Amino acid sequence: MHLKGALHVHTTCSDGELTIPEVVNIYTGLGFDFIALTDHDYLLRPNCYDIVKTLPTDMIIFRGLELTVFEKGYVHVNRIKGDTERLHIFNHPAELDLPMEKVIDRITTVAKRFPIDAVEVTTKGFRTPEYEIPEIPYPKVATDDSHTRIGCGRAWIEMDCPRSKDGIIRAIRNNDFWNCYNEHHAVFPQMK
Ligand SMILES: [Zn+2]
Repeated sequence: MHLKGALHVHTTCSDGELTIPEVVNIYTGLGFDFIALTDHDYLLRPNCYDIVKTLPTDMIIFRGLELTVFEKGYVHVNRIKGDTERLHIFNHPAELDLPMEKVIDRITTVAKRFPIDAVEVTTKGFRTPEYEIPEIPYPKVATDDSHTRIGCGRAWIEMDCPRSKDGIIRAIRNNDFWNCYNEHHAVFPQMK
């Protein structure tokens, strides 16, 4: 089945401006089949994701968490829960504002603590093509990291896979998906 999805979405459960029903409505309107709620671990309001069960939607809604990890400095790792599988994504390397060799070293070090499955190649939905290199030997995913309405739908992934949480996670792990950007997409300015 052809699926379109957002792997990195913030809500009012942490520092996002939109409630869970609002992000579900917005991404549904944009034709998304799945989203992952990935609010910050240190800001997450207790039981905030419980509303997901009550929403009248066909959308696949992953529960996730954006982990703040200290490893020679702070990095962010998204943990996304499937039915039985769990996905770990090293987030927005451009936000580290480090030279490439240090970014690669940071990913390598973090991968010893977390089973990293993929690395983001976007910052807030803007493409960061400098990380689309073989020296970062992971599937590269495009995400919105949306916190606001305007941040929804800049970048996403599409895939052909079984319509289930684990089906989606396995497709990402197998690098069997496409990164997509909307027609107005811009490249994030290099920080160096
Ligand atoms: Zn985030």
